[in-house]
Amino acid sequence: MKVIVVGSSHGGYETVRGILATQPDTEIQWYEQGDFLSFLSCGMQLYLEGTVKDVNQVRYATPEGMTKAGVHVFVKQEISKIDPNNRTVHVINHADGTERDETYDKLVLSVGAVPFELPVPGHELQNIYAMRGRDWAIKLKAKTVDPDINNVVVIGSGYIGIEAAEVFAKAGKHVTVIDLLPRLLSLYLDEEFTSTLTAEMATHHITAAVNQQVQAFNGEAGHVVSVTTDQATYPADLVVSAAGIKANTTMLKGVVDLDDHGLIKINQYLQTSQPDIYAVGDATLVPFAPTGQSARIALATNARRQGRFAAKNLLGIPSPMPAVSGSSALSVFDYHFSSTGVKTGTSKKLGIRSASVLVTDTVRPKFVPNNAGNDKVWFKLTFDPDDGRVLGAQIMSKIDVTANINTISLAIQARLTVADLAYTDFFFQPGFDRPWNIMNVAAQKALATLA
Ligand code: FAD
Repeated sequence: MKVIVVGSSHGGYETVRGILATQPDTEIQWYEQGDFLSFLSCGMQLYLEGTVKDVNQVRYATPEGMTKAGVHVFVKQEISKIDPNNRTVHVINHADGTERDETYDKLVLSVGAVPFELPVPGHELQNIYAMRGRDWAIKLKAKTVDPDINNVVVIGSGYIGIEAAEVFAKAGKHVTVIDLLPRLLSLYLDEEFTSTLTAEMATHHITAAVNQQVQAFNGEAGHVVSVTTDQATYPADLVVSAAGIKANTTMLKGVVDLDDHGLIKINQYLQTSQPDIYAVGDATLVPFAPTGQSARIALATNARRQGRFAAKNLLGIPSPMPAVSGSSALSVFDYHFSSTGVKTGTSKKLGIRSASVLVTDTVRPKFVPNNAGNDKVWFKLTFDPDDGRVLGAQIMSKIDVTANINTISLAIQARLTVADLAYTDFFFQPGFDRPWNIMNVAAQKALATLA
């Protein structure tokens, strides 16, 4: 069997790995239109802050390693057209300008997404950057050490925007984060968490300009100098636009069914409307466990899961994709947070009823001093007020307790209730924890609210 995989980021990489692990003698052609195989934007912050020194290390796969594993790797080669009736793709080789057709038995699309460009006057000015992919990583890195860059405006306060803000604040720049929504990080955390984080960011010279809509980028001599919103104008030597993404699916119109946002429609086996064409990653929707509906959750974790399941299915092992909860984690200066599933702030938009309890405590027993790894922890558990089913949770502390959220993700997937979670056996040792884990405490509090 000959499989063509398009895109070398998380979804494409995992599909290739999955095929190799299950049926290594499969003929695999792996295409990347850029000049670098398998750059992982998740590692961008670590590179921009200097933790990872070499941008070329921010990857999992090299052409040499994958070729050794038997994969035919094509870099700087773009799949520009697909003919599903004849099962062929048209390839443009950007290295030498040649073009050709290739046949496939199965085709996997992990074409991902591109940064959304705000359609406002001045969007073509120089020094308006995006934060995705290796080319932008290299350009952004240069700006972190550019003495001419003093004021940085970040547009969008999702985790990508906040990563960008932290990078430039640590580089000594004054940063303004503009968001349409009323709070920073509001799709990830409720107000009890974001109020603390916003204050923390303010101490590091990051100004939150929320509830504001960008109306124009203003320039001088072709370069951006400020950003005007419906409320104010902010000086900007550099703009980092992180106001969402759009599916990279223009060439798929009329080939596979797309939804109104250009996302590829897939079934639970990752098949598109063309049964021999599979799709994974940011260009698709994923099944969202708390609601049972499909949702757009652009995370590497989802792309990886989908890639693994696409590999099984195309090899003839029917394997429905398990639902996910949208678990994510981030550090904001000294704070670490993670969240999963439904929040108070997202439940209405998802169209579901939810209730929540908030517990604040210390990570370890109160007698353990701060300098021995103790500090405050916030934990919020969200559940169905009718049957107590666990729907989501958020946690934050200066101690890294983010992994608790993985337990809640499992509880959501297993459709556990707060009654199950209230007395689950979690370990205790004062060096790590309290006699009742904070998840037990919150679930007990939630249980008491149910009739
Ligand atoms: P993409 O990463 O979008 O890659 C698609 C690839 O396909 C690109 O390399 C593109 O050049 C190539 N391609 C597209 N069309 C063609 C074509 N026609 N022919 C050939 N090649 C083509 N997720 C997490 O879970 N955790 C994190 O910590 C995290 N951090 C992130 C930080 C940043 C700054 C960003 C931007 C994203 C982060 N993400 C994180 C999200 C994660 O990176 C994405 O969910 C993931 O990369 C999606 O993978 P993908 O395979 O769908 O596509």
